[in-house]
Amino acid sequence: MTSPSVSDCPNCIDPNVMVYDTRMEQHGWRRRRRHCKSCGYKWSTLEIPADELHDLIHLRDQLIVLHQRMTFMLEPSKPRPNGASAGGKSTEHEQTGAIWNPDGVY
Ligand SMILES: [Zn+2]
Repeated sequence: MTSPSVSDCPNCIDPNVMVYDTRMEQHGWRRRRRHCKSCGYKWSTLEIPADELHDLIHLRDQLIVLHQRMTFMLEPSKPRPNGASAGGKSTEHEQTGAIWNPDGVY
């Protein structure tokens, strides 16, 4: 069994699809409006240069990492990942980037 093509219908996986509109988008990307002749489903595909897609995927991955780091910094109850096991007392003042007291001690 082969996997469905990007141009197959995402609703019924039928390849009997018609492109009824093609237009240029920003950045020179090409949008194609597609219509499935089997089930009537309509959707769009976007054609962009592979290098630009790879750059966008790389940027997305960097954003995911940054989001995970920021989420970690904003959740004081989570344990530290770098093996800094808390010995009971709050003596972790050397932590870089800490913007609040993670143990809530005043
Ligand atoms: Zn379909």
